[in-house]
Amino acid sequence: MLVSQILKSKGSEGVLTVTPETLVSEAAKILAEKGIGTVMVSVDGEVPAGILSERDIVRELARSGSGCLKDSVETYMTSNLVTCGRNDDAVEVLEKMTQGRFRHMPVLEDGKLVGLVSLGDAVKARLSELAMEKDALQGMIMGH
Ligand code: AMP
Repeated sequence: MLVSQILKSKGSEGVLTVTPETLVSEAAKILAEKGIGTVMVSVDGEVPAGILSERDIVRELARSGSGCLKDSVETYMTSNLVTCGRNDDAVEVLEKMTQGRFRHMPVLEDGKLVGLVSLGDAVKARLSELAMEKDALQGMIMGH
């Protein structure tokens, strides 16, 4: 299955972004309100500058206390991004996330954000693909 199919099944290809100057407290509010685990950071809403995950916030809270909530997201975001393209295979994306121990993969086209695939999205897509393969194989064995 391709990344583009996962994005299609999610219904929307838009990605929520915040600017690098956004406060960590505002980003935390967005994560909580939207029920998501990360927010992409971008100056223009298109070219990614980094990603800020709930883990980045929790790590800094534990390290330095609640003062970090008043800092900007660019202080704690990860700017060395691992990304994928629409035509990449979902299993490879899953492997990259597993190896890198992160749960979100920005999808880029011409250097611009076109989607975000979570570990959950990729696992769901793989499970439904495996279920279809199983049905097809069972059909072949049973002769229908
Ligand atoms: P996550 O598991 O996605 O909540 O993120 C765990 C850590 O990996 C955090 O420090 C994130 O900033 C970082 N991270 C998440 N996604 C990516 C990615 N695609 N490329 C590089 N780092 C990432």
